[in-house]
Amino acid sequence: MHELSIAEALLDVALEHAEGRRVARVEVRVGQLRQVVPDALEFAFQMVSSGTAGEGAELAMEVCPALARCRECGSEAPLRSFPWRCPGCDGSWPEVVGGEELELQAIEVTDEELDMEVVR
Ligand SMILES: [Zn+2]
Repeated sequence: MHELSIAEALLDVALEHAEGRRVARVEVRVGQLRQVVPDALEFAFQMVSSGTAGEGAELAMEVCPALARCRECGSEAPLRSFPWRCPGCDGSWPEVVGGEELELQAIEVTDEELDMEVVR
């Protein structure tokens, strides 16, 4: 289950940037070629963040489609099947330009003290 190691990596970065504050929301971009199962990643994130400042954070995932660019003519087309065929020149030597993303885009943090004041 590689979602677990991805979740751990995302949480590490999020907590580092939160600098001790509570993480409310984590936005990630995940490429289609990463073959991440969204539900599995969300579950893994909940699991690894339990007991940390990231517990309960909303995980917002954007899936980036797999995209290839022809090395011959520069045309771009979705990478759906192999072998890939260029729509421009019928070449079959693509460079993958999308779909391998795994980026933590943004996090939202809440000031813990402020939160508690609101609760009271
Ligand atoms: Zn081409």
